[in-house]
Amino acid sequence: VEERLYLGMDFGTSGARYAVIDKEGTIHAEGKRPYPLNSSKETVDWARSWKTTLFSLLEDVPSSLRSFIASISIDGTSATTIIIDSTTGEPLHRPFLYNESCSDALPVVKSIAPVNHTVCSSTSTLCKLISWWNSDESNKESSVLLHQADWLLWLLHGKLGVSDYNNALKVGYDPELDAYPPWLLCQPYSRVLPSVQAPGTVIDIMKEDIRTRYGFPEDCVTCTGTTDSIAAFLASRATQPGKAVTSLGSTLAIKLLSTNRIEDARFGVYSHRLDDKWLVGGASNTGGAVLRQIFTDEQLAKLSEQINPMEASRLDYYPLQSVGERFPVADPKMVPRLHPRPPNDAEYLHGILESMARIEAEGYTLLKHLGATPVEEVFTAGGGAKNGTWTKIRERVLGLPVSQALHTEAAYGAALLALKGAQQ
Ligand code: ADP
Repeated sequence: VEERLYLGMDFGTSGARYAVIDKEGTIHAEGKRPYPLNSSKETVDWARSWKTTLFSLLEDVPSSLRSFIASISIDGTSATTIIIDSTTGEPLHRPFLYNESCSDALPVVKSIAPVNHTVCSSTSTLCKLISWWNSDESNKESSVLLHQADWLLWLLHGKLGVSDYNNALKVGYDPELDAYPPWLLCQPYSRVLPSVQAPGTVIDIMKEDIRTRYGFPEDCVTCTGTTDSIAAFLASRATQPGKAVTSLGSTLAIKLLSTNRIEDARFGVYSHRLDDKWLVGGASNTGGAVLRQIFTDEQLAKLSEQINPMEASRLDYYPLQSVGERFPVADPKMVPRLHPRPPNDAEYLHGILESMARIEAEGYTLLKHLGATPVEEVFTAGGGAKNGTWTKIRERVLGLPVSQALHTEAAYGAALLALKGAQQ
């Protein structure tokens, strides 16, 4: 029997990665590319940079594997937006980046959207769309809004105006209605919105010229993608309600698979749809960035070995880089608490790791109080995941099984979406 493979690509903030997997999830090839900054110093031509990277990655996929690729999917940074002319395919404006603020449109957005809706943030896709709509002189008759992942996939399949409900959340798509809401549809700019599918839905076969240029098979299909952080969650292969991923990077972020949708703007808690479940998320300002202010990564590793994780530290801190916390405590005036500092550094680190574990536990408790499925098992991603001492501390504090996620690369999650699409 001929083996079939599945290609996922992740377009992150500084570069892009790919992963090729089989139906068991075994990786056959992976790689990465930084974005080329082919431009004048001030303005990077991001659209061109991403496009170049897309085709470089296709070339990086070993040619011996390409003819086995049954499907491709791509994730991109959430709220990265490109508006293009559907007649020429050319961008009508440079891409709006994920963290770009369009505060000029915020009052309008707040006047049309429900209170505390996800779109009520100056970096939301909807703010970007309205800001462009109100200021740009170009012909709007034939314009289409695409998210970064949609646009890159479009380069491969050529069918205009297709997105997924994870990327579309920040433009106002209602994943529960499975439609754009009436308050959005009555606006003149709603006609530029893409159609929306579940992530990992077949869009179309790959364009013939690309297929033949790279040696992908005739039946190779493209599938809708998702956002980079959801793709990273998917990589953990947590599929049951109650399974969660804690990401211990610069900040501490938790994502819990739940049977029901939870939204609470006070804590910055919101949910993404994943088929018949919801992925509930919250992010604390505590995390590795604070650790890095105090210890080098080498010190962290060495000192951690001197800690007995079975023993509770009595030091009670709230490690923050600066004033303010949102989740699990909504307090914009919260002051970082990292004192008293014991003379022994291992003891100090023990107190910090234990305190962060308590914040993590409070996070899961808060999600439960807000109505989410209670957490049963935690997988870990990010720089802190490799710290076995911290894992044991967290197991004790959370009272749950905690382990390192087998896979954490968003590209792997995107490859799983390609697999999902091919199996439909
Ligand atoms: P991000 O992508 O969010 O910047 P990473 O996932 O790369 O972060 O993780 C980096 C963080 O991991 C750093 O802030 C660092 O303090 C932390 N880190 C590195 N090594 C360890 C360790 N052994 N124990 C705990 N934290 C660590």
